[in-house]
Amino acid sequence: MEKKDRLEEYRSKRNFSRTREPSGTDISQGLRQGPQPLFVIQKHKASTLHYDFRLEVDGVLKSWAVPKGPSTNPSEKRLAIPTEDHPLDYATFEGTIPQNEYGAGTVLVWDTGRYRNLKDKPIAQAIDEGQAEIWLEGEKLQGGYALVRTARGKEVRWLLLKMRDEKADARRNPVSTEPASVISGHTIEQMEAKAQHDE
Ligand code: MN
Repeated sequence: MEKKDRLEEYRSKRNFSRTREPSGTDISQGLRQGPQPLFVIQKHKASTLHYDFRLEVDGVLKSWAVPKGPSTNPSEKRLAIPTEDHPLDYATFEGTIPQNEYGAGTVLVWDTGRYRNLKDKPIAQAIDEGQAEIWLEGEKLQGGYALVRTARGKEVRWLLLKMRDEKADARRNPVSTEPASVISGHTIEQMEAKAQHDE
């Protein structure tokens, strides 16, 4: 499928004359290929606070909303709700989406870096099959994580799990102890205060 088709849902939800989010029409961004694909976790204070977990897969960012954010403790399963594919250049987006627009609220880049596919099949296939395993090389998060689709009765849901490896650490809780952006160093609260000041 063409990349532009995969971003149709993303674009249909947004008015790019109102939001500063990228439209994903910059082809040069879409063709950018690093040595390893990137991941990003964006903290998003929308109507409810959540963490958007995104993986570069075949030129777009496959995305899940994780209400509680990722854990470094393998015993803690985190619910992950699939959301629409995002353009690659969304990976560096920070700022405030205006009131009444889709996703209204403040977004910061909570963690980012490269990831490695731990399965011996393409990552897109692993996600299709609901059994992805990746190794993150972020600033806050490192090591193996699994994204697993489960079915409970008719309800389909995904879980984000820290795998058991040397990077697992039940004593850490970076979602609460390291709240700031890895790009600006600012917290959501600092960004909101600045946005109000600039109005
Ligand atoms: Mn979001």
